[in-house]
Order: sequence, then C-alpha cells, then structure tokens
Amino acid sequence: MLIDAVKKELQRIVGVEHASFSKEALLCYAYDATNIRKMPDAVVFPKNAEEVSLILKMANAERFPVVPRGAGSGFTGGSVPVDGGVVLSTERMREIHSIDEANLTATVAPGVITWELQQEVEKRGLFYPPDPTSLNFSTIGGNIAENAGGPRAVKYGVTRDYVLGLEVVLPTGEIINTGVKTAKGVVGYDLTRLIVGSEGTLGVVTKAVLRLIPLPESTRTLLAVFPELADAASAVSGIIKARITPSTLEIVDSISIRCVEEYANVGLPKAGSFLIIEVDGTVEGTSKEADEVRRVCLENRASSVDEAVDKKEARNLWKARRAISASLFRIKPNKINEDVVVPRSEIPALVSGISGIAQRRGLLIACFGHAGDGNIHVNIMYDGKDAKESEVAHETVGEVFKLTLSLGGTISGEHGVGITKAPYLAMELGSDAISLMKRIKANFDPNGILNPGKVFAGGHSR
Ligand SMILES: Cc1cc2nc3c(=O)[nH]c(=O)nc-3n(C[C@H](O)[C@H](O)[C@H](O)COP(=O)(O)OP(=O)(O)OC[C@H]3O[C@@H](n4cnc5c(N)ncnc54)[C@H](O)[C@@H]3O)c2cc1C
Repeated sequence: MLIDAVKKELQRIVGVEHASFSKEALLCYAYDATNIRKMPDAVVFPKNAEEVSLILKMANAERFPVVPRGAGSGFTGGSVPVDGGVVLSTERMREIHSIDEANLTATVAPGVITWELQQEVEKRGLFYPPDPTSLNFSTIGGNIAENAGGPRAVKYGVTRDYVLGLEVVLPTGEIINTGVKTAKGVVGYDLTRLIVGSEGTLGVVTKAVLRLIPLPESTRTLLAVFPELADAASAVSGIIKARITPSTLEIVDSISIRCVEEYANVGLPKAGSFLIIEVDGTVEGTSKEADEVRRVCLENRASSVDEAVDKKEARNLWKARRAISASLFRIKPNKINEDVVVPRSEIPALVSGISGIAQRRGLLIACFGHAGDGNIHVNIMYDGKDAKESEVAHETVGEVFKLTLSLGGTISGEHGVGITKAPYLAMELGSDAISLMKRIKANFDPNGILNPGKVFAGGHSR
C-alpha cells in the first residue's frame, strides 16, 4: 500500500490527471496477455525521462515496486505488478521524434505502437522490419524489453538487430544514454544489448534510436496447404536447404486453422496444415524465389500452393494469421502459450514429439508460428475450472521444454521469462550463469524496486 504522501508526490511529478488510484483504473493495469492478475496500488503516466527518474528515485527512498508497462500484450506476465506498487505506463510517450533519411535511423519514444512507426517510415520508402504479430497494439518499448521477434525474423532478425542506442532511466534514477546514433560503435561494454531483452528489470527505456533499411521493391505471398503437419515441417527444411531466405515462413496446424476460420471467416480451407511464405526483394528475384518455393512445397506433398493476387488478399491472410492466438479460446477457455525454438532441421522432430505428448496427456495442443527460425508457438489448451485438466496442462509444459532442449533448442524465442517461465530457468541455464545474472540485477537495482519477481521469481508461477 502506498501512503498518502507518496500518492501526492506521484501526482506532483506527473500531474494530478496523469496518476490514477481508483479501483476501476487499477484493474485495467493488473494483467497482461497471460491473464494473470495482480492489482497495483497506482498507475502513473509520465511524459519523459525526467519524470520517470523522479518516480524511480522516490521508489528507492520509499521502497515500493515500479513496473514498466507498454501495451500489456506480453505473454509471460512481464508487466503484471506481482508485488503491487506503481505501474509506470508509457502511454503518454508516443512521439516519433525524428526519421533521419540520410542516416537511416528513427528516434522514437517508448510508447510508439510498432505498426505506427512502420507506416511512417514506409511513407518515405524505408523499412523497420521487426514485426511481432501483436504489432498493431504492442509498443516499441515493450518490443525492446522483450527483444520481440516476429514472422520477418527469418530474414531480417529481431528487435535487437535494429536498436542502435537507448536513453534509459536506471532503477536508481540516473538517466543514461547507451550505444550510438551511427552505423557502428564499440566504445565500452555493450549496455544497449544488455538492456534489450532485460524485460523491464534493468531500466526504463525512454527513447530509442532505431536502424532503418530501404523498403524492398516487391513482396510475393504464398499459401501452401499440406495434408499433414509433418509434411509442412519438412517443406520448411526443404526451403532453407534450397538456399532461399524467405522474408516470412509461418507454419499453422489444422487445429489453429479450423479455429481461426470459424473466428475470422476469411475463406481458408478448413483441412490440413499451412505454410504462409513471403519472399521479398527485386521483382526479378522474388519471381524466381516464389517459383522455387512452390516447387519445394509440391515436392513435400503440398496439395495446393496459391499466391495472393494483390495486397488486399495478402493482408487478409495476415489478418487471419494474427487472429490465431485469440481464436484458440474457441476450443478451451484457457491456454498456456509457449514459444520454444529448435534448430530448423529439428522442426519435424519437435512437431511429432508434441503430437505424441498431446496424445499421451489427452490434451489438445495447437502449434503455429515462425517456422522459418524454428520458433513454434505451442498452445496447450485446457479448462482452468477443471482441476485435473489444469494440473495435466501445467505438467505438460516441463515435458515440452525437455523435448525442446533435447533437440538443441531454447525454451523462449521471443516472449521472455517473466513470471511464467521463471520456474524453468535452470532447465536451460547453468547455476553460474544465473548467479552472474542475479549479480547484474543487484548492481543495477540494489533495492530491487524495478519490476521485482520477474525472470528469477522462484515462487510466482501461473
Ligand atoms: C496476439 C499476440 C501476438 C503476439 N505475437 C508476438 C510475436 O510475434 N513476437 C513476439 O516477440 N511477441 C509477440 N507477442 C507478445 C508481446 O506482444 C510482445 O512481447 C511485445 O513486445 C510486448 O509489448 P508491450 O508493449 O505489450 O509490452 P508489455 O506487455 O506492456 O511489457 C512487456 C515487458 O516489457 C517491459 N516494458 C514495457 N515497456 C518498457 C519500457 N519502456 N522500458 C522498460 N521495460 C519496458 C515490461 O515491464 C514487461 O516486462 C504477442 C502477443 C499477443 C497478445
């Protein structure tokens, strides 16, 4: 609980209308996409680094938790205030400060929605590739804190690859600048890379200098349908072996297709598994690559390979792809969404292993995701009101992780650890590495006020 003097001071720092303490307001900031709920004691909407700094200094003096929050679309509970305290929302930090066409950079505030930035740079023939499927609502700050990936990561990499420099408010309130505004730079330790993916535990990002690239001239979008998921998985390996680097290579299993078609009604055939494949580049290059992709899919028993005739058709396909996650709730009211990654050549072994686990456990597990980089979203569906089914579903997580690690993979490709994966950290990382990470956290945040209970939680689970 925050004492009245602290509430007054928060109001003084951000302005009375930008600090909320009412139950209704607090409820809206109590959860993220995991649907885990914990009520904060306050929500504040600072407008710049100076206000963030004052809030963090007061948090150290008065010892209350501060939890940074973008759009709250995280899948691991990162922005859930597990210990109460103050949710620090970046909603008022929405400026695109500048787009530098000569140096191919954009300088933005953390609350900018990823899609809005992409639209702005595309007007100038430029491209900001990181595209989490949540791009219509997630923020650049949240993307940086989670090192978000997305369909285009197979060719263009993840958020980390586009962050040149950051303005960060440290947990103790100092405002620092990391990295560069130039194309390269190697002065000192790479604090930018340390902050990217640190899940809001090492600092609050208040500004980012992002790298842009030229917008590709042409994009071709194909949809290949396979009778079996295993064939779609083999086609993924086939495309990579054929030395094609698609700009997206997404896999969708039959459970997900059925759900999304019933939900979004975009005219997808309701049988089989899909690959959505995009190639981009020059007109001539994409034409050759599209032909080659079609050949590999047919060789791997695709029953059809169709191409979107225009941008509208391609957009519809992506609309359906983005709706999959939400549409799965048609099957069961609860889901555990894991985002494991394996070497691409092991995707067939992963999908067949997961199908075996689902059968053994008597659960429905829907798989879809960014197959081009081996990143499969494994959605374990269950009814939270059914205690037995809920227990089995949660036990299954460890089994999926064990399978993933045995195939040389990692337990998270893009959603981070947050609170949901914290109990599994030691499955992947050695104790020396975890201990070093804890020492880094303690150095940045000696009083443990910034986003406590995350990454190393040990205690908070779903
Ligand atoms: C339908 C759907 C699809 C998704 N698809 C993808 C996908 O394809 N790829 C992917 O990577 N993720 C995906 N996600 C997960 C999520 O959208 C990403 O993790 C996203 O980056 C979170 O952004 P956000 O603004 O919602 O952040 P939040 O959920 O609000 O916060 C996420 C973390 O970032 C921290 N944080 C937020 N802002 C700051 C800041 N300014 N400074 C420091 N820390 C901060 C928070 O404390 C928290 O730990 C998806 C989610 C949904 C619901």
